[in-house]
Amino acid sequence: MANIMVVGSYVVDLMSRTPHMPKPGETVLGGPFQMGPGGKGSNQAVAAARQGANVTMVTKVGHDLFGDHAMENFTEESIDTTYVTRHTEEATGTAIITVDDQGENTIVVALGACGKITSTDVQGAEQRLEASDMVLVQLETSMDAIRTTIQLARKHNKPVILNPAPFQQIDDDLLQDVAYITPNETEASLLTGIEVVDESSARKAAKQLIERGVHAVVITLGKQGCFVYDGSDDGTLVKGFPVQAVDTTGAGDAFNGGLATFIAEGMKLAKAVIRANAVAAISVTKTGTAIAMPTMADVEEFLR
Ligand code: ATP
Repeated sequence: MANIMVVGSYVVDLMSRTPHMPKPGETVLGGPFQMGPGGKGSNQAVAAARQGANVTMVTKVGHDLFGDHAMENFTEESIDTTYVTRHTEEATGTAIITVDDQGENTIVVALGACGKITSTDVQGAEQRLEASDMVLVQLETSMDAIRTTIQLARKHNKPVILNPAPFQQIDDDLLQDVAYITPNETEASLLTGIEVVDESSARKAAKQLIERGVHAVVITLGKQGCFVYDGSDDGTLVKGFPVQAVDTTGAGDAFNGGLATFIAEGMKLAKAVIRANAVAAISVTKTGTAIAMPTMADVEEFLR
């Protein structure tokens, strides 16, 4: 079993369907409503655990009902909570999500406790990080925690997947210690200043990121799949799987959790991205984020 450490966010998803997105000042009668675990860190941890990884989560939740719910949920997903701490003042994070009849979404995230993960919290998990095969981190917490995670991974020679979402500026010195960066089109554009809209612009952006020190780049391109570049050739567009999408929220998280697991298990990047595309494609056929993550058996069945 691959050992993966995920350092990142946990928020409760409060999700309503709506016939159309409300305009400013408008109230729409929507529904149904669904509540469930979310946050990029937690979603990616769930995606990895359901693909068979042994996952340790480093995050922070509040001393509130949502925090209790988080702990229960991690345990249900067989995710190790040794390094999940509870903030005495900040509430557990929340995400208010609307999904319209076209499957498009809007999201407002209040990070609360998980925005306050500190360097010290991450340092507390150093021994576990040392025993991990892969470290997976996003940009949905404090830059201090992200920086410490990447630095500790370098110290112990552990590969890092950085999913630069949601976008925040990240110093180039950190990129040199990132084995794989996995932006979507928007994040790739913001990171490089190159507008990524297709294969050729993705190639340009990926080349720039390699020049800045990242070892391999995977730009996710929604239903088109992803563009993969490790600097050794001209890069490859790996096609996504055609499915009937009902809710694309969390597609990127499904992809990253899957990718982390497959690479940590020793799969080559070219093969791991195909399987990660499958994990993400299955996730968009279901409503919700973490609850929509497929199991290993679902992926086997899908690829058969
Ligand atoms: P989100 O923010 O909604 O979680 P994202 O913008 O981070 O997603 P995307 O690039 O939209 O990430 O999607 C990630 C991966 O999910 C893609 O590389 C692809 O494999 C898969 N995917 C996304 N949308 C679809 C779709 N409609 N059909 C099939 N696969 C999809």
